[in-house]
Amino acid sequence: MKTIKIIGLIIFLTGMAIWTGALFMGEFSLTQEQLDSFIEEKGIKSELLAKTLEEEVVGETFGTFGFSSAIRGALTDNNVYYDEQIAKYDAAKEWDKKGAQYQYRINNGDFQAFTFNLAKKAGTGFVRENPGLMWILTFGLGILGALMFIFPNLVLLGQPGIKNDHIYHNSATNRGWIAWLVLIYLVAFYLVLYFYSDYVVNWTFILDPISRALNGGDASQWFVYGFMYCVIMITMAVRMYIKYRHNKYQIVRTTSVLFFQIVFAFLIPEIMSSLGKPGYDFKNAFPLDYDFFFEWNLNTLTASGGLGIFILVWGIVLTLVIVPVMVYFFGKRWYCSWVCGCGGLAETLGDPYRQHSNKTMKAWKLERWLIHSVLVFSLVMTLVTLYCYFTGAQAFLGINTNWIKDTYSFLIGAWFAGVIGTGFYPIFGNRVWCRFGCPLAAYLGFVQRFKSRFRITTNGGQCISCGNCSTYCEQGIDVRAYAQKGENIVRSSCVGCGICSAVCPRGVLKLENGPEKGRINPTQVLLGNDVDLMDYVNNEQHSA
Ligand code: SF4
Ligand code: SF4
Repeated sequence: MKTIKIIGLIIFLTGMAIWTGALFMGEFSLTQEQLDSFIEEKGIKSELLAKTLEEEVVGETFGTFGFSSAIRGALTDNNVYYDEQIAKYDAAKEWDKKGAQYQYRINNGDFQAFTFNLAKKAGTGFVRENPGLMWILTFGLGILGALMFIFPNLVLLGQPGIKNDHIYHNSATNRGWIAWLVLIYLVAFYLVLYFYSDYVVNWTFILDPISRALNGGDASQWFVYGFMYCVIMITMAVRMYIKYRHNKYQIVRTTSVLFFQIVFAFLIPEIMSSLGKPGYDFKNAFPLDYDFFFEWNLNTLTASGGLGIFILVWGIVLTLVIVPVMVYFFGKRWYCSWVCGCGGLAETLGDPYRQHSNKTMKAWKLERWLIHSVLVFSLVMTLVTLYCYFTGAQAFLGINTNWIKDTYSFLIGAWFAGVIGTGFYPIFGNRVWCRFGCPLAAYLGFVQRFKSRFRITTNGGQCISCGNCSTYCEQGIDVRAYAQKGENIVRSSCVGCGICSAVCPRGVLKLENGPEKGRINPTQVLLGNDVDLMDYVNNEQHSA
């Protein structure tokens, strides 16, 4: 069995190596016709840019990075020139001429899409010409290798029960060198995906046939991400099914997040796009879906007839009614651990790292400050955006709508949710984003803490203080501290994953939805981290 695992690992790493190597394969050679059609499609007005591209790119052959840098260089030169023109006419107070220059500039934020789309036209070579074979050599080998690594556990894990043996002796799960390598790969992946998508055009060629079959168009970098996301979740879900095979709650919950990811987050939006409708993820509630109220989305929805209006109403009802009502009855677990895509990835790909969540009081304090700040940030951004949308203004209370949207997308949407939230799984644990950054989790947490039937009850007399529950709580909750006191656990951050209960050897913990009365039952048993003990003793003496 161990040999099968080793062979599986080698096959998996080979698939990963070819996948990474695919970025460096192939060539990019732009023809005059391709450039002309691109300029026409995009309505590019700058003749200077067209001329530079004609002279410096058309007819030449580049590698991935050379092509990107040539295009980005041409765009930068174009903007430098027109910025000078703008400054010149500004000095001369020739306002009409100054205003006319802006149409020739390309927004810096559009460089990535501009370069990606041109690369998509100009790509040639092995990867583009053999997408089927490349799929087998990358996804095929990756999936086969991962399953060969996972399946032997059915035998190796032996007796019923959840085994976390040796996780602190393994460099992959104990912040050793393997964990750091995984972190570097994940962070690099997200940086490229968000900020240099023109480098991953070869990956999109591999998935073009699948994309065309699903939505009628070529694959974008987001299609690649969505497809990978599903494949990774499915593969790691197999691991979950085997590891937690004796725990019905975990099996059903894993199936649920898989279903919502594949059907709601991936397939339905793709099929809607193929029908010319807005590709919407019906389970993605605001403010996690932070651009729901952005101008472009509102315009798209209102221009899409009955379906668009339905999506608009659904999005609002989901956030204001369905989400809180469901949290009232079931706690935030119904969303965070059963439906959400971020939660789904955290629970499958991130499961080997759940023990890394920080359990200190400092982390708890930071969590409360950070997550509520992000919630406030997202609400302010939405208010400014809506005000500007309805009034036509550019700013509200001095806050520029574009600036705040770009800042949120960059800091929260890309860095926090992607690069840090997922990239740092191997070091900070699997729920960094959900615990410290997700504005929807903050909103659900409020409802869960103050108006919900959900709690984890603890049968304190049975607790042997082994600490398994605290170790494997991905949200950094010191579950044992509650269990020792026989106190119900009512915490806004608990996502109801149920792992604390699953790993408890004494059946102490139970996730329940019951009457609100008596739900919060603090006891007089004191632990050092609850209060300043000397203060408490002095007060008691004083009052006696
Ligand atoms: S307290 Fe238990 S159910 Fe809640 S997040 Fe932690 S491990 Fe999951
Ligand atoms: S896992 Fe169970 S027995 Fe161990 S500390 Fe937690 S509640 Fe107590």
